[in-house]
Amino acid sequence: MSRENGSWSPSESTFGKAKQVLDATASSGDLYRNGLGMIASENIVSPMVQKIVASDLHGRYAEGLPGRRYYQGCDDFDTIESLGIDLAKSVFNAPFANIQSTSGTVSNIAALKALAKPGDKITAVSTADGGHISHARMGAVGLRDLDLSTYPWDEERMEPDIDGACALIRELEPKVSLIGQSVFLFPTPLREIADAAHEVGSTVMYDGAHVLGLIAGGVFQDPLREGADVMTGSSHKTFPGPQGGFLLSSSEDEKMHKRLNNAIFPGVCSSYHLHHVAGKVVALAEFEEYGQAYAQDIVKNAQSFAQALAAEGFDVLAESRNYTASHQVLTRHGGTDSGAGAKAADSLEKAGIITNMNMLPGDTKALSPSGLRLGVQELTRVGMGTNEMQEVAALYARVLLHNENPSAVKKDVQTLKSDFQIIRYCFNESQVSGYPL
Ligand SMILES: *Cc1c(COP(=O)(O)O)cnc(C)c1O
Repeated sequence: MSRENGSWSPSESTFGKAKQVLDATASSGDLYRNGLGMIASENIVSPMVQKIVASDLHGRYAEGLPGRRYYQGCDDFDTIESLGIDLAKSVFNAPFANIQSTSGTVSNIAALKALAKPGDKITAVSTADGGHISHARMGAVGLRDLDLSTYPWDEERMEPDIDGACALIRELEPKVSLIGQSVFLFPTPLREIADAAHEVGSTVMYDGAHVLGLIAGGVFQDPLREGADVMTGSSHKTFPGPQGGFLLSSSEDEKMHKRLNNAIFPGVCSSYHLHHVAGKVVALAEFEEYGQAYAQDIVKNAQSFAQALAAEGFDVLAESRNYTASHQVLTRHGGTDSGAGAKAADSLEKAGIITNMNMLPGDTKALSPSGLRLGVQELTRVGMGTNEMQEVAALYARVLLHNENPSAVKKDVQTLKSDFQIIRYCFNESQVSGYPL
């Protein structure tokens, strides 16, 4: 650092480091602008959300709830958060909503703090069957020191074995019956599980992280009316907002609302990223307008993509159930624990198609699984429809079945993607301009 003519100028080497960040950020942006983002937990945000997320709110604090703050300067943010709570209640049809959580995992930690005490029993889907790490001993369940038992799994139907799950709940009488997965092809038959849970005084917690946009769009299932007492989730997977979380409940009981609010603050958050909360509120408003069409198009595209992959010759899971009822499609690329999924993901990346390897039934090693978990929510958001799903499946076949050079395929990936650069199902760019945020 040196000071010349009264102003500090950075040294070559420190500026060089910042420039590396700029270059890598631009390059990462190009990867997705020119390629096909198909990771099932990801999405892109609207122009208005992008602008809000980069606003002055980024540097601000609010603790407490609207109207009951520990800091001055929160009046405008109170307007934003109050609007957001009302919107979340209406979009998710929930008597209670807290929109402060900074991620799906944080929502789960808070919910488990509100609903259980250390040593209490909990039942959940195992990570090997698609449950999330926060449902495991290595994650939030272990952090709360809960005594975990996992449901039996129906590999054919790709959902918990319902009779087995109900029997387990009746036998163990867990404090919390946790439902929901990261590999989430089909709605969980929730009513039976909730009946068993409520019979033994267990709270039903539904983790909708992946499928929250589908639920809000009315195309997957309606957990809060099918017996879930609490629903958690991420605000950035199929729900197309900035990264963050939601905490929702079907309970009308104000004591429960207070417990859930307190579990977030002072429980697990101090700053709760006001710029992201404001972004969530805009995303909720956009969802109210466009969300139903978006959710319907996602599921239509996922089914069409799965059928097209199967027609190309891929082994697509859950054929007997028409492959999927969500945004996800699962494919098997080799034997159990063979690492074929890792190899396939690597080849696809060379062609500009970004995916992730995933464990399938039978796999035991997270780093050498046999499959891929694919999501179509981002491609749907930029306007791709069922015709494009056929084209994308054909690109997969060229890379993975016909062993074409991925760099040759990459050119065609770029050409396809060049026609899909505008984010849909949201307010447009011109509606954002003119605001100094
Ligand atoms: C992704 C996911 C989460 C965690 O959400 P983050 O926002 O990434 O913290 C929790 N539960 C399930 C089922 C998930 O798939």
